[in-house]
Amino acid sequence: LTNFPYHQILVLGLAKSGTAAAKLLHDSGKKVRVNDLKANKQDPSVKELTNLGIDVITGGHPMSVLDNIDMLVKNPGIPYENEIVLEAEKRGIPVITEVELAGRLVNDSIIGITGSNGKTTTTTLIFEMLNQSNCKTQIAGNIGNVACEAAQTMEMDEQMVIELSSFQLMGIQSFKPKISVLLNLFEAHLDYHKTFENYKQAKANILRNQTNDDYVVYNANDPEIEDIVQNAQAVKVPFSIAEKQPAGAWCDSEYLYFKQEKIIALSEITLVGSHNLENILAAVSAAKLGGADNKGIHQVLSTFTGVKHRLQFIANINGRLFYNDSKATNILATSKALSSFAHPTILLAGGLDRGNAFDELIPSLESVKAMVVFGETADKLARTAAQAGIETIEYAKDVKQAALQAYGLSEKEDVILLSPACASWDQYRTFEERGDMFIEAVHTLE
Ligand code: ADP
Repeated sequence: LTNFPYHQILVLGLAKSGTAAAKLLHDSGKKVRVNDLKANKQDPSVKELTNLGIDVITGGHPMSVLDNIDMLVKNPGIPYENEIVLEAEKRGIPVITEVELAGRLVNDSIIGITGSNGKTTTTTLIFEMLNQSNCKTQIAGNIGNVACEAAQTMEMDEQMVIELSSFQLMGIQSFKPKISVLLNLFEAHLDYHKTFENYKQAKANILRNQTNDDYVVYNANDPEIEDIVQNAQAVKVPFSIAEKQPAGAWCDSEYLYFKQEKIIALSEITLVGSHNLENILAAVSAAKLGGADNKGIHQVLSTFTGVKHRLQFIANINGRLFYNDSKATNILATSKALSSFAHPTILLAGGLDRGNAFDELIPSLESVKAMVVFGETADKLARTAAQAGIETIEYAKDVKQAALQAYGLSEKEDVILLSPACASWDQYRTFEERGDMFIEAVHTLE
Protein backbone atom coordinates (compact mmCIF):
# COMPACT_ATOMS: atom_id res chain seq x y z
CA LEU A 1 0.00 0.00 0.00
CA THR A 2 1.56 3.27 -1.11
CA ASN A 3 0.86 6.64 0.50
CA PHE A 4 -1.11 5.04 3.30
CA PRO A 5 0.11 6.67 6.49
CA TYR A 6 -2.09 4.67 8.86
CA HIS A 7 -0.82 1.85 11.03
CA GLN A 8 -3.49 0.52 13.38
CA ILE A 9 -6.64 -0.16 11.50
CA LEU A 10 -10.09 -1.31 12.52
CA VAL A 11 -12.11 -3.22 9.94
CA LEU A 12 -15.79 -2.88 10.87
CA GLY A 13 -18.05 -5.58 9.40
CA LEU A 14 -16.59 -8.80 8.11
CA ALA A 15 -18.41 -10.22 5.04
CA LYS A 16 -16.39 -10.73 1.86
CA SER A 17 -15.10 -7.19 1.59
CA GLY A 18 -14.09 -6.91 5.26
CA THR A 19 -12.19 -10.19 5.12
CA ALA A 20 -10.35 -9.13 1.96
CA ALA A 21 -9.54 -5.69 3.39
CA ALA A 22 -8.21 -7.18 6.62
CA LYS A 23 -5.97 -9.59 4.71
CA LEU A 24 -4.61 -6.87 2.43
CA LEU A 25 -3.84 -4.59 5.36
CA HIS A 26 -2.21 -7.44 7.29
CA ASP A 27 -0.10 -8.39 4.25
CA SER A 28 1.01 -4.76 4.02
CA GLY A 29 2.40 -4.92 7.53
CA LYS A 30 -0.39 -3.00 9.26
CA LYS A 31 -1.77 -3.89 12.66
CA VAL A 32 -5.36 -4.95 12.05
CA ARG A 33 -8.35 -5.45 14.32
CA VAL A 34 -11.72 -6.70 13.07
CA ASN A 35 -15.10 -6.16 14.68
CA ASP A 36 -18.32 -7.84 13.54
CA LEU A 37 -21.65 -7.87 15.34
CA LYS A 38 -22.99 -11.17 14.01
CA ALA A 39 -20.05 -13.40 13.06
CA ASN A 40 -18.97 -16.09 15.53
CA LYS A 41 -15.63 -17.67 16.27
CA GLN A 42 -16.47 -20.76 14.21
CA ASP A 43 -17.01 -18.90 10.92
CA PRO A 44 -14.33 -19.90 8.38
CA SER A 45 -13.37 -16.28 7.69
CA VAL A 46 -13.02 -15.55 11.42
CA LYS A 47 -10.81 -18.62 11.82
CA GLU A 48 -8.73 -17.66 8.81
CA LEU A 49 -8.07 -14.14 10.09
CA THR A 50 -7.43 -15.33 13.65
CA ASN A 51 -4.86 -17.80 12.33
CA LEU A 52 -3.05 -14.89 10.67
CA GLY A 53 -2.78 -13.28 14.09
CA ILE A 54 -5.52 -10.71 13.48
CA ASP A 55 -7.58 -9.74 16.51
CA VAL A 56 -11.22 -10.53 15.69
CA ILE A 57 -13.92 -9.28 18.08
CA THR A 58 -17.39 -10.70 17.45
CA GLY A 59 -20.84 -10.55 19.01
CA GLY A 60 -20.95 -6.85 19.92
CA HIS A 61 -19.51 -3.40 19.33
CA PRO A 62 -17.54 -2.52 22.52
CA MET A 63 -16.07 1.00 22.33
CA SER A 64 -12.67 -0.47 23.22
CA VAL A 65 -12.33 -1.71 19.62
CA LEU A 66 -11.34 1.88 18.79
CA ASP A 67 -8.43 1.99 21.24
CA ASN A 68 -5.21 3.07 19.48
CA ILE A 69 -6.90 2.95 16.07
CA ASP A 70 -5.93 5.57 13.46
CA MET A 71 -8.12 4.44 10.53
CA LEU A 72 -11.49 2.69 10.17
CA VAL A 73 -12.50 0.58 7.16
CA LYS A 74 -16.29 0.35 7.24
CA ASN A 75 -18.39 -2.24 5.42
CA PRO A 76 -20.56 -0.27 2.94
CA GLY A 77 -23.75 -1.77 4.44
CA ILE A 78 -23.10 -0.38 7.95
CA PRO A 79 -24.86 2.97 8.44
CA TYR A 80 -22.96 6.06 9.49
CA GLU A 81 -25.16 6.17 12.61
CA ASN A 82 -23.48 3.04 13.94
CA GLU A 83 -22.14 3.86 17.42
CA ILE A 84 -18.56 2.89 16.56
CA VAL A 85 -18.58 4.98 13.38
CA LEU A 86 -20.01 7.99 15.25
CA GLU A 87 -17.39 7.67 17.97
CA ALA A 88 -14.59 7.29 15.38
CA GLU A 89 -15.73 10.47 13.67
CA LYS A 90 -15.84 12.24 17.03
CA ARG A 91 -12.25 11.21 17.64
CA GLY A 92 -11.17 12.39 14.18
CA ILE A 93 -10.42 8.88 12.90
CA PRO A 94 -10.91 8.76 9.10
CA VAL A 95 -13.62 6.33 7.91
CA ILE A 96 -13.15 4.70 4.50
CA THR A 97 -14.59 1.77 2.53
CA GLU A 98 -12.71 -1.14 1.03
CA VAL A 99 -12.64 0.29 -2.52
CA GLU A 100 -10.39 3.08 -1.26
CA LEU A 101 -7.77 0.42 -0.40
CA ALA A 102 -8.08 -1.07 -3.89
CA GLY A 103 -7.64 2.41 -5.33
CA ARG A 104 -4.39 2.87 -3.39
CA LEU A 105 -3.04 -0.11 -5.31
CA VAL A 106 -4.41 0.38 -8.82
CA ASN A 107 -6.03 3.84 -9.13
CA ASP A 108 -4.93 4.38 -12.72
CA SER A 109 -6.35 1.10 -14.03
CA ILE A 110 -9.94 1.35 -12.83
CA ILE A 111 -13.10 1.58 -14.90
CA GLY A 112 -15.81 2.36 -12.32
CA ILE A 113 -19.53 2.17 -13.01
CA THR A 114 -22.24 3.75 -10.92
CA GLY A 115 -25.92 4.71 -11.25
CA SER A 116 -29.23 3.72 -9.71
CA ASN A 117 -29.94 0.97 -12.26
CA GLY A 118 -27.99 -1.02 -14.84
CA LYS A 119 -24.66 -1.24 -13.01
CA THR A 120 -24.23 -5.01 -13.17
CA THR A 121 -25.32 -5.21 -16.80
CA THR A 122 -23.00 -2.39 -17.92
CA THR A 123 -20.07 -3.69 -15.88
CA THR A 124 -20.48 -7.15 -17.40
CA LEU A 125 -20.72 -5.75 -20.94
CA ILE A 126 -17.53 -3.71 -20.55
CA PHE A 127 -15.71 -6.69 -19.09
CA GLU A 128 -16.81 -8.96 -21.96
CA MET A 129 -15.92 -6.36 -24.62
CA LEU A 130 -12.41 -5.91 -23.23
CA ASN A 131 -11.98 -9.66 -22.92
CA GLN A 132 -13.07 -10.25 -26.51
CA SER A 133 -10.51 -7.64 -27.56
CA ASN A 134 -7.75 -9.47 -25.68
CA CYS A 135 -7.32 -6.68 -23.13
CA LYS A 136 -6.49 -8.20 -19.75
CA THR A 137 -9.31 -7.33 -17.37
CA GLN A 138 -10.69 -8.26 -13.97
CA ILE A 139 -14.32 -7.78 -13.00
CA ALA A 140 -15.14 -6.71 -9.45
CA GLY A 141 -18.18 -5.74 -7.41
CA ASN A 142 -21.47 -7.61 -7.38
CA ILE A 143 -20.12 -10.09 -9.92
CA GLY A 144 -16.51 -11.16 -9.57
CA ASN A 145 -14.01 -10.50 -6.81
CA VAL A 146 -14.02 -7.99 -4.03
CA ALA A 147 -12.15 -4.88 -5.23
CA CYS A 148 -9.02 -5.21 -3.12
CA GLU A 149 -8.73 -8.92 -3.87
CA ALA A 150 -8.81 -8.13 -7.59
CA ALA A 151 -6.36 -5.26 -7.10
CA GLN A 152 -3.86 -7.53 -5.37
CA THR A 153 -3.70 -9.99 -8.25
CA MET A 154 -3.67 -7.48 -11.10
CA GLU A 155 -0.80 -7.38 -13.56
CA MET A 156 0.82 -4.18 -14.84
CA ASP A 157 -1.20 -3.90 -18.05
CA GLU A 158 -4.45 -5.18 -16.59
CA GLN A 159 -7.60 -3.11 -15.92
CA MET A 160 -10.32 -3.54 -13.30
CA VAL A 161 -13.96 -3.02 -14.24
CA ILE A 162 -15.92 -2.42 -11.06
CA GLU A 163 -19.52 -1.76 -10.12
CA LEU A 164 -19.68 0.93 -7.42
CA SER A 165 -22.60 1.54 -5.08
CA SER A 166 -23.32 4.89 -3.44
CA PHE A 167 -22.46 3.24 -0.11
CA GLN A 168 -18.96 2.40 -1.33
CA LEU A 169 -18.43 5.79 -2.91
CA MET A 170 -19.24 7.60 0.33
CA GLY A 171 -16.10 6.16 1.92
CA ILE A 172 -13.38 7.25 -0.49
CA GLN A 173 -10.46 9.66 -0.08
CA SER A 174 -8.18 9.32 -3.10
CA PHE A 175 -10.01 6.61 -5.11
CA LYS A 176 -9.96 7.67 -8.76
CA PRO A 177 -11.17 5.70 -11.75
CA LYS A 178 -9.33 6.24 -15.04
CA ILE A 179 -12.77 5.99 -16.62
CA SER A 180 -15.90 6.61 -14.63
CA VAL A 181 -19.37 5.77 -15.92
CA LEU A 182 -22.53 7.51 -14.65
CA LEU A 183 -25.68 5.77 -15.87
CA ASN A 184 -28.71 7.40 -14.27
CA LEU A 185 -30.04 8.69 -10.98
CA PHE A 186 -33.43 7.84 -9.47
CA GLU A 187 -34.67 8.12 -5.91
CA ALA A 188 -33.16 5.10 -4.16
CA HIS A 189 -31.72 4.00 -0.84
CA LEU A 190 -33.20 6.97 0.96
CA ASP A 191 -33.37 4.87 4.13
CA TYR A 192 -29.54 5.00 4.17
CA HIS A 193 -28.79 8.39 2.65
CA LYS A 194 -31.83 10.23 4.14
CA THR A 195 -32.10 12.78 1.31
CA PHE A 196 -31.83 12.61 -2.48
CA GLU A 197 -29.15 15.31 -2.32
CA ASN A 198 -26.96 13.10 -0.08
CA TYR A 199 -27.45 10.15 -2.41
CA LYS A 200 -26.55 12.29 -5.42
CA GLN A 201 -23.50 13.62 -3.60
CA ALA A 202 -22.33 10.07 -2.87
CA LYS A 203 -22.63 9.13 -6.54
CA ALA A 204 -20.81 12.34 -7.53
CA ASN A 205 -17.85 11.17 -5.44
CA ILE A 206 -16.83 8.96 -8.36
CA LEU A 207 -15.60 12.13 -10.13
CA ARG A 208 -14.01 13.80 -7.13
CA ASN A 209 -10.37 12.89 -7.76
CA GLN A 210 -10.42 12.59 -11.53
CA THR A 211 -8.18 14.95 -13.53
CA ASN A 212 -8.10 15.96 -17.18
CA ASP A 213 -6.16 12.76 -17.96
CA ASP A 214 -9.27 10.76 -17.00
CA TYR A 215 -12.67 10.25 -18.61
CA VAL A 216 -16.27 10.43 -17.50
CA VAL A 217 -18.82 8.56 -19.60
CA TYR A 218 -22.29 9.85 -18.76
CA ASN A 219 -25.95 9.78 -19.75
CA ALA A 220 -26.65 13.07 -21.51
CA ASN A 221 -30.41 12.52 -21.20
CA ASP A 222 -30.51 12.36 -17.40
CA PRO A 223 -30.70 15.91 -15.94
CA GLU A 224 -29.43 14.81 -12.52
CA ILE A 225 -26.39 13.17 -14.11
CA GLU A 226 -25.76 16.22 -16.32
CA ASP A 227 -25.84 18.34 -13.20
CA ILE A 228 -23.26 16.12 -11.46
CA VAL A 229 -20.95 16.10 -14.48
CA GLN A 230 -21.12 19.84 -15.11
CA ASN A 231 -18.04 20.67 -13.06
CA ALA A 232 -16.07 17.48 -13.75
CA GLN A 233 -12.35 17.79 -14.42
CA ALA A 234 -12.29 14.61 -16.50
CA VAL A 235 -12.78 14.57 -20.28
CA LYS A 236 -16.53 14.31 -20.90
CA VAL A 237 -17.84 11.49 -23.08
CA PRO A 238 -21.64 11.72 -23.30
CA PHE A 239 -23.97 8.98 -24.52
CA SER A 240 -27.58 9.31 -25.67
CA ILE A 241 -30.32 7.17 -27.16
CA ALA A 242 -32.11 10.35 -28.28
CA GLU A 243 -29.63 12.51 -30.18
CA LYS A 244 -26.27 12.51 -31.95
CA GLN A 245 -23.25 12.88 -29.65
CA PRO A 246 -20.15 13.71 -31.71
CA ALA A 247 -17.95 13.23 -28.62
CA GLY A 248 -19.49 9.95 -27.46
CA ALA A 249 -21.89 7.09 -28.19
CA TRP A 250 -25.31 7.45 -29.83
CA CYS A 251 -27.65 5.77 -32.28
CA ASP A 252 -30.01 6.62 -35.08
CA SER A 253 -32.88 4.36 -36.12
CA GLU A 254 -30.49 1.85 -37.75
CA TYR A 255 -26.99 1.97 -36.29
CA LEU A 256 -25.07 2.48 -33.10
CA TYR A 257 -22.08 4.86 -33.34
CA PHE A 258 -19.10 5.83 -31.25
CA LYS A 259 -18.14 9.34 -32.32
CA GLN A 260 -18.21 9.09 -36.16
CA GLU A 261 -17.64 5.33 -36.31
CA LYS A 262 -20.43 2.85 -37.07
CA ILE A 263 -20.16 0.06 -34.47
CA ILE A 264 -23.13 -2.25 -35.12
CA ALA A 265 -26.59 -2.34 -36.72
CA LEU A 266 -29.29 -2.17 -34.05
CA SER A 267 -30.94 -5.23 -35.62
CA GLU A 268 -27.86 -7.31 -34.74
CA ILE A 269 -27.98 -6.48 -31.03
CA THR A 270 -29.25 -9.44 -28.98
CA LEU A 271 -30.03 -7.64 -25.71
CA VAL A 272 -33.60 -6.30 -25.56
CA GLY A 273 -35.05 -3.18 -23.92
CA SER A 274 -34.44 0.54 -24.36
CA HIS A 275 -32.90 0.72 -20.89
CA ASN A 276 -30.37 -1.84 -22.06
CA LEU A 277 -29.61 0.28 -25.10
CA GLU A 278 -28.48 2.97 -22.68
CA ASN A 279 -26.33 0.44 -20.84
CA ILE A 280 -24.88 -0.66 -24.19
CA LEU A 281 -24.00 2.91 -25.24
CA ALA A 282 -22.28 3.46 -21.89
CA ALA A 283 -20.42 0.16 -22.24
CA VAL A 284 -19.28 0.84 -25.80
CA SER A 285 -17.89 4.23 -24.74
CA ALA A 286 -16.01 2.87 -21.74
CA ALA A 287 -14.74 -0.20 -23.62
CA LYS A 288 -13.46 1.95 -26.52
CA LEU A 289 -11.67 4.28 -24.10
CA GLY A 290 -10.27 1.22 -22.30
CA GLY A 291 -8.76 -0.16 -25.52
CA ALA A 292 -11.41 -2.56 -26.87
CA ASP A 293 -11.60 -3.03 -30.66
CA ASN A 294 -14.72 -2.88 -32.82
CA LYS A 295 -14.57 -6.59 -33.59
CA GLY A 296 -14.60 -7.53 -29.92
CA ILE A 297 -17.42 -5.10 -29.19
CA HIS A 298 -19.44 -6.40 -32.14
CA GLN A 299 -18.91 -9.98 -31.01
CA VAL A 300 -20.33 -9.23 -27.55
CA LEU A 301 -23.29 -7.16 -28.74
CA SER A 302 -24.37 -9.76 -31.28
CA THR A 303 -24.33 -12.65 -28.78
CA PHE A 304 -24.86 -11.31 -25.24
CA THR A 305 -28.34 -12.17 -24.00
CA GLY A 306 -28.26 -10.54 -20.59
CA VAL A 307 -26.89 -10.98 -17.11
CA LYS A 308 -28.54 -13.87 -15.34
CA HIS A 309 -32.01 -13.05 -13.94
CA ARG A 310 -32.08 -9.57 -15.56
CA LEU A 311 -34.33 -9.81 -18.58
CA GLN A 312 -32.24 -12.80 -19.58
CA PHE A 313 -33.19 -14.67 -22.73
CA ILE A 314 -33.52 -18.38 -21.91
CA ALA A 315 -34.80 -20.29 -24.94
CA ASN A 316 -36.95 -20.33 -28.03
CA ILE A 317 -39.21 -23.36 -27.69
CA ASN A 318 -41.45 -23.95 -30.67
CA GLY A 319 -41.48 -20.24 -31.41
CA ARG A 320 -42.17 -19.16 -27.81
CA LEU A 321 -39.50 -16.81 -26.40
CA PHE A 322 -38.79 -17.36 -22.69
CA TYR A 323 -37.23 -14.54 -20.62
CA ASN A 324 -36.14 -14.63 -16.99
CA ASP A 325 -36.34 -11.28 -15.16
CA SER A 326 -36.49 -12.66 -11.63
CA LYS A 327 -34.46 -9.64 -10.40
CA ALA A 328 -37.53 -7.47 -11.09
CA THR A 329 -38.80 -7.23 -7.51
CA ASN A 330 -40.87 -4.07 -7.94
CA ILE A 331 -43.48 -2.58 -10.27
CA LEU A 332 -41.03 -0.21 -11.97
CA ALA A 333 -38.69 -3.02 -13.01
CA THR A 334 -41.57 -5.13 -14.34
CA SER A 335 -42.94 -2.15 -16.31
CA LYS A 336 -39.47 -1.68 -17.86
CA ALA A 337 -39.34 -5.32 -18.81
CA LEU A 338 -42.82 -5.27 -20.37
CA SER A 339 -41.99 -2.18 -22.41
CA SER A 340 -39.08 -4.08 -23.98
CA PHE A 341 -41.30 -6.32 -26.11
CA ALA A 342 -43.57 -5.64 -29.04
CA HIS A 343 -44.77 -9.29 -29.00
CA PRO A 344 -47.90 -10.51 -27.22
CA THR A 345 -46.68 -11.44 -23.77
CA ILE A 346 -47.66 -13.93 -21.10
CA LEU A 347 -46.57 -12.47 -17.78
CA LEU A 348 -45.63 -14.60 -14.77
CA ALA A 349 -45.79 -12.54 -11.60
CA GLY A 350 -46.21 -12.76 -7.84
CA GLY A 351 -44.33 -13.17 -4.60
CA LEU A 352 -43.90 -11.52 -1.22
CA ASP A 353 -46.79 -9.26 -0.17
CA ARG A 354 -45.42 -5.91 1.04
CA GLY A 355 -48.92 -4.53 1.42
CA ASN A 356 -48.81 -2.38 -1.70
CA ALA A 357 -51.31 -2.28 -4.57
CA PHE A 358 -50.41 -3.03 -8.17
CA ASP A 359 -52.53 -0.35 -9.91
CA GLU A 360 -49.43 1.34 -11.30
CA LEU A 361 -48.73 -1.76 -13.33
CA ILE A 362 -51.97 -1.43 -15.34
CA PRO A 363 -50.66 0.95 -18.07
CA SER A 364 -47.82 -1.50 -18.78
CA LEU A 365 -50.12 -4.48 -19.24
CA GLU A 366 -51.35 -3.46 -22.68
CA SER A 367 -49.39 -6.13 -24.58
CA VAL A 368 -50.10 -8.80 -21.95
CA LYS A 369 -52.52 -11.42 -23.31
CA ALA A 370 -52.47 -13.73 -20.29
CA MET A 371 -51.15 -13.67 -16.78
CA VAL A 372 -50.10 -16.51 -14.49
CA VAL A 373 -49.94 -15.47 -10.84
CA PHE A 374 -48.38 -17.18 -7.83
CA GLY A 375 -47.21 -16.52 -4.27
CA GLU A 376 -48.68 -14.25 -1.59
CA THR A 377 -49.70 -11.54 -4.04
CA ALA A 378 -51.51 -13.90 -6.46
CA ASP A 379 -55.00 -12.57 -5.62
CA LYS A 380 -53.97 -8.92 -5.80
CA LEU A 381 -52.27 -9.43 -9.16
CA ALA A 382 -55.23 -11.40 -10.52
CA ARG A 383 -57.50 -8.46 -9.63
CA THR A 384 -55.07 -6.02 -11.29
CA ALA A 385 -55.00 -8.18 -14.42
CA ALA A 386 -58.80 -8.27 -14.54
CA GLN A 387 -58.94 -4.47 -14.18
CA ALA A 388 -56.53 -4.18 -17.10
CA GLY A 389 -58.95 -6.22 -19.20
CA ILE A 390 -56.82 -9.37 -19.40
CA GLU A 391 -59.14 -12.29 -19.98
CA THR A 392 -56.87 -15.22 -19.31
CA ILE A 393 -55.69 -15.30 -15.71
CA GLU A 394 -54.43 -18.49 -14.10
CA TYR A 395 -53.16 -19.32 -10.62
CA ALA A 396 -50.05 -21.47 -10.20
CA LYS A 397 -48.58 -23.02 -7.08
CA ASP A 398 -45.04 -21.85 -7.85
CA VAL A 399 -42.83 -20.49 -10.59
CA LYS A 400 -42.15 -23.93 -12.11
CA GLN A 401 -45.83 -24.66 -12.47
CA ALA A 402 -46.35 -21.13 -13.80
CA ALA A 403 -43.82 -21.73 -16.60
CA LEU A 404 -45.57 -24.93 -17.67
CA GLN A 405 -49.04 -23.36 -17.52
CA ALA A 406 -47.84 -20.35 -19.54
CA TYR A 407 -46.52 -22.66 -22.23
CA GLY A 408 -49.93 -24.34 -22.36
CA LEU A 409 -51.58 -20.95 -22.94
CA SER A 410 -49.11 -19.75 -25.55
CA GLU A 411 -48.92 -19.53 -29.31
CA LYS A 412 -45.98 -19.13 -31.68
CA GLU A 413 -44.22 -15.71 -31.40
CA ASP A 414 -45.42 -15.12 -27.84
CA VAL A 415 -43.01 -13.89 -25.20
CA ILE A 416 -43.25 -15.77 -21.90
CA LEU A 417 -41.81 -13.46 -19.27
CA LEU A 418 -41.04 -14.09 -15.61
CA SER A 419 -40.94 -10.57 -14.15
CA PRO A 420 -42.57 -11.00 -10.75
CA ALA A 421 -42.88 -7.35 -9.53
CA CYS A 422 -42.40 -8.79 -6.04
CA ALA A 423 -39.60 -10.03 -3.81
CA SER A 424 -39.14 -13.79 -3.67
CA TRP A 425 -38.96 -14.48 0.06
CA ASP A 426 -42.47 -15.88 0.46
CA GLN A 427 -41.48 -19.00 -1.51
CA TYR A 428 -37.76 -18.76 -2.33
CA ARG A 429 -34.60 -17.86 -0.49
CA THR A 430 -33.45 -15.41 -3.16
CA PHE A 431 -34.49 -14.01 -6.51
CA GLU A 432 -31.67 -16.12 -7.99
CA GLU A 433 -33.25 -19.32 -6.66
CA ARG A 434 -36.63 -18.29 -8.12
CA GLY A 435 -35.01 -17.57 -11.51
CA ASP A 436 -33.14 -20.88 -11.47
CA MET A 437 -36.40 -22.77 -10.85
CA PHE A 438 -37.93 -21.02 -13.83
CA ILE A 439 -34.96 -21.81 -16.08
CA GLU A 440 -35.12 -25.46 -14.99
CA ALA A 441 -38.82 -25.67 -15.84
CA VAL A 442 -38.27 -24.05 -19.25
CA HIS A 443 -35.58 -26.58 -20.12
CA THR A 444 -37.94 -29.47 -19.35
CA LEU A 445 -40.08 -28.23 -22.25
CA GLU A 446 -37.26 -28.60 -24.78
P1 ADP B 1 -28.00 -2.80 -10.83
O1 ADP B 1 -26.73 -3.56 -10.78
O2 ADP B 1 -27.75 -1.30 -10.86
O3 ADP B 1 -29.02 -3.21 -9.81
P2 ADP B 1 -28.80 -4.43 -13.11
O4 ADP B 1 -27.93 -4.36 -14.32
O5 ADP B 1 -28.66 -5.58 -12.20
O6 ADP B 1 -28.66 -3.07 -12.27
O7 ADP B 1 -30.32 -4.31 -13.58
C1 ADP B 1 -31.36 -4.44 -12.64
C2 ADP B 1 -32.69 -4.01 -13.20
O8 ADP B 1 -32.69 -2.59 -13.37
C3 ADP B 1 -33.02 -4.56 -14.59
O9 ADP B 1 -33.67 -5.80 -14.53
C4 ADP B 1 -33.92 -3.48 -15.16
O10 ADP B 1 -35.24 -3.69 -14.71
C5 ADP B 1 -33.42 -2.20 -14.54
N1 ADP B 1 -32.46 -1.43 -15.40
C6 ADP B 1 -31.29 -1.88 -15.91
N2 ADP B 1 -30.67 -0.92 -16.62
C7 ADP B 1 -31.42 0.19 -16.53
C8 ADP B 1 -31.29 1.53 -17.04
N3 ADP B 1 -30.24 1.92 -17.78
N4 ADP B 1 -32.30 2.40 -16.75
C9 ADP B 1 -33.36 2.03 -16.02
N5 ADP B 1 -33.54 0.79 -15.51
C10 ADP B 1 -32.60 -0.14 -15.77
